[in-house]
Amino acid sequence: MAEEKKNSVEVSEDEVMAPASEPGGVDEGRRNLLKLGIAGAGVAAATAGGVVIAKKLEGIPHDETYIPIREDYKPFDGRSLMQAFASSKQLIAKYPERVKAWEREVRKRDSKWDVVGGNAEFRKGKMSDVPGFTQLDYALSHGAWHTQSKFHGPAYGTNVGLFSWAQSDVAKNKWKFKSRLEASDTIKSAAKLYHAARCGIAPHDPRWDYHPLYDPVTEKEYSWEKDFPFKPKSVIVLLSEMDYVAMAAAPTVLADATSGQGYTDMANQAGSMAKFLRGLGYQAVAAGNDLGISTAYAVAAGLGELARAGWVIAPELGPRIRISKVYTDFDFVEYDNPREYGVTSFCENCKRCAVACPAKAITLDDKRTFEPVYEGAEDPDYTWNNNIGVFQWHSDSKKCWQYWCESGSSCAACIAACPYNKPDFWHHRFIDAQNVIAPGWVHSAMREFDILFGYGDINNPQKIKDFYKSGRKL
Ligand code: SF4
Ligand code: SF4
Repeated sequence: MAEEKKNSVEVSEDEVMAPASEPGGVDEGRRNLLKLGIAGAGVAAATAGGVVIAKKLEGIPHDETYIPIREDYKPFDGRSLMQAFASSKQLIAKYPERVKAWEREVRKRDSKWDVVGGNAEFRKGKMSDVPGFTQLDYALSHGAWHTQSKFHGPAYGTNVGLFSWAQSDVAKNKWKFKSRLEASDTIKSAAKLYHAARCGIAPHDPRWDYHPLYDPVTEKEYSWEKDFPFKPKSVIVLLSEMDYVAMAAAPTVLADATSGQGYTDMANQAGSMAKFLRGLGYQAVAAGNDLGISTAYAVAAGLGELARAGWVIAPELGPRIRISKVYTDFDFVEYDNPREYGVTSFCENCKRCAVACPAKAITLDDKRTFEPVYEGAEDPDYTWNNNIGVFQWHSDSKKCWQYWCESGSSCAACIAACPYNKPDFWHHRFIDAQNVIAPGWVHSAMREFDILFGYGDINNPQKIKDFYKSGRKL
């Protein structure tokens, strides 16, 4: 497929994520970042060179490389998503060798965490006295997940609840916008109304879709051509922000509670956005973790950069985000360009998430690779859930799940430890902005300062107390 090749490159470390020259639309948050970036650029222009800085700030056109992939890259198989696989009776029966790997890492344990339903012990009425794992904490988390569970179903479901593919409510009349910019502004203003923290719009890109799509609940396999209700042209990407104070209490259930609220927000925001577009006469389907790789689409929509731990880091919000998507046939929009924020270079010098990870699931390797390099990576029956052929840091997420099963929470210590995870203070925004142009040694120094200032420590019981006081002035 011709499109598959456009991001396939022979990669040298100097070439990857090469910035390009064409400008693209930016939302208000990124405009602010650019202003700050330009301020930072003014300071550093003498050393870094104005042309390089300007290019970094302008973004990368969609037909250039923004996530390098290898020639043999194939779109990810929806049946290889870990939660889909682990909760599907049919897939488990079909791939006994994967079950072996799964059992080796997860199922042999007396699991406190259930792949399908989250916390197992709380649902059985078993209560703990361990701070951060008490009835209070689990009840908080269940409250956060409730709307998502009620109106969407499992976080990995396809074509269910608010993420249904039904198009019976598409308005007969098509609303016409006067310009592409007016259309993009309107969509992003609607996103703001629906409480999204950021919104970007990317052209639809089949490389980032799951092929085939799979719903482990109904055990149905779907094809884009035969089953999806329309040919998507654009993907609207929405970020929801998770609570800083709750996340700081990782790896306790408080971090899981803010993740659950993030999933609820994803369903609400993407569900509302899809309904809005259908009301304008265009076809639209909301998606959470289903349909396609959310991180790739967030990068494509200019909202952030892929980071060492596998998630996206967004300016100002860091990794404390959840990503939802809306696939639509509407394409009269100004697309956002992917852009560099200095994350790759920072991650090369930082590794704080990998050090903090209790499961050792995140690689400590300096450089990104096209394949996983963790222990056991030579066994394809073990690496089936990695997206092989994408130039990134590859985690061993089975180990991550193993820790969740042992601990009884969805952890998130990696997010809490990351130096990009900050409250929204102006000086943090300034540091984010200058980070776009800072050289590696500055990143190393920033990591050390971050530790010195007390950010990102995990397993701190005081953080649990802080959270339960954080709403006092609400
Ligand atoms: S969630 Fe926890 S176990 Fe999983 S990768 Fe992050 S730090 Fe490691
Ligand atoms: S903790 Fe450091 S290495 Fe890990 S994602 Fe954040 S910046 Fe990158």
